[in-house]
Amino acid sequence: MSLPRLTIIGSGCAGLSLARAIGQDKKAEIALITDKPATDRSEHIWGFWHMPWLDDAAGQATHKWHKWRFMSDDISVIHHSDEHPYHMLSSTQWLSYCTAQSGTKETISPITDTAVKDDIGKDTPQAPYFDSRPKPAPEGALLQHFLGQMLKTSQPVFDPSIATLMDFRCDQSQGLHFIYLLPTAPDTALIESTLFTDTPLQDAFYEEAIKRYMTQNYPGIAYDVTRTEKGIIPLADCRDTKAPNHAIGARGGALRPSSGYAFTFIQKQVAEIIAHHDKTGTWRATSPLSARDLWMDKVFLRVLSKHPTTSARLFMRLAKALTGTEFACFMSGTARWPLIAKIIFAMPKLTFISAALAVIAKGGRA
Ligand SMILES: Cc1cc2nc3c(=O)[nH]c(=O)nc-3n(C[C@H](O)[C@H](O)[C@H](O)COP(=O)(O)OP(=O)(O)OC[C@H]3O[C@@H](n4cnc5c(N)ncnc54)[C@H](O)[C@@H]3O)c2cc1C
Repeated sequence: MSLPRLTIIGSGCAGLSLARAIGQDKKAEIALITDKPATDRSEHIWGFWHMPWLDDAAGQATHKWHKWRFMSDDISVIHHSDEHPYHMLSSTQWLSYCTAQSGTKETISPITDTAVKDDIGKDTPQAPYFDSRPKPAPEGALLQHFLGQMLKTSQPVFDPSIATLMDFRCDQSQGLHFIYLLPTAPDTALIESTLFTDTPLQDAFYEEAIKRYMTQNYPGIAYDVTRTEKGIIPLADCRDTKAPNHAIGARGGALRPSSGYAFTFIQKQVAEIIAHHDKTGTWRATSPLSARDLWMDKVFLRVLSKHPTTSARLFMRLAKALTGTEFACFMSGTARWPLIAKIIFAMPKLTFISAALAVIAKGGRA
């Protein structure tokens, strides 16, 4: 018996993660259309906390940490979680695993909005489709921009049992800036210089920040850079509001505006699409982020853009107020109301109330 046909536009994280899940259960014959092959994308890592919908991804991850820390000039906070370790997954490895599991091949053909409307999107139950072409970030959006280097040191200096998620002991002259360090062996680590501002910088800025961090924290240690990755992620709501049931990935609201984390939400969205199909026999995408979390993110982003110089303290306060498991749940969108109340209680009240009022006054925009 031939399988029903389903079109997926885009072979990035969302397109291929969905194609994998459909291919694994042989639910449909997939037409995967994209503007450039997945193999042309440069390798980077995806970080995520293990959650129930991430078993497949966790199985492909190369490293995990049950402990992670946050550091500033005056304090250091260490989190530990048995249930929700932080994982590191290579994008190349995940995309090729998904390709193999999907049982399909990409067709290279840039798709326009008109083609979606007039051709692919002649939406009948016989011709369903999902669209992951990214939407441009709204003008003036805060950006997460970063450059990371995979380092191999001449001597064992790193502790591979603990990841550093945010270390604010670096140059704050250009706005909120932190170092992210994932040690995978005593002599190997991914180190990234990351900023949350509205303007990306020249590579030299991030490279110098990494160099200075290494000199200050590991004096006299020589190292080679074995790989570089960089990115710019909009810290904003980039959803397609016109065809939300067809939109997946960042286009489908799976990018968390306050953190730039998308991988976990994409996998959650994929799991929800499959569950919906199992239940109803129809294909439909929903946003994996709750309206409550999106609202809180808008307020948080408003605070970050209005108070860049004190934002590091906010992250440290948040880290200090929560346990590792609570932090992982909050970052992965599974926080229940008591945890949300704990977070609200930990934040400076006046700053957040005035940001919330400003968001309300702007009709829900950050
Ligand atoms: C270097 C880097 C590191 C990151 N690290 C993390 C992390 O640690 N954790 C995390 O959660 N997130 C991370 N992210 C963010 C996350 O990777 C992205 O937000 C996520 O990949 C979005 O997936 P997507 O499928 O929505 O979009 P994409 O992966 O961008 O896929 C979009 C697809 O659409 C295709 N396409 C575009 N235009 C057209 C067109 N006109 N016609 C046909 N196809 C088209 C593209 O070629 C691509 O295949 C990182 C991003 C980068 C760049």
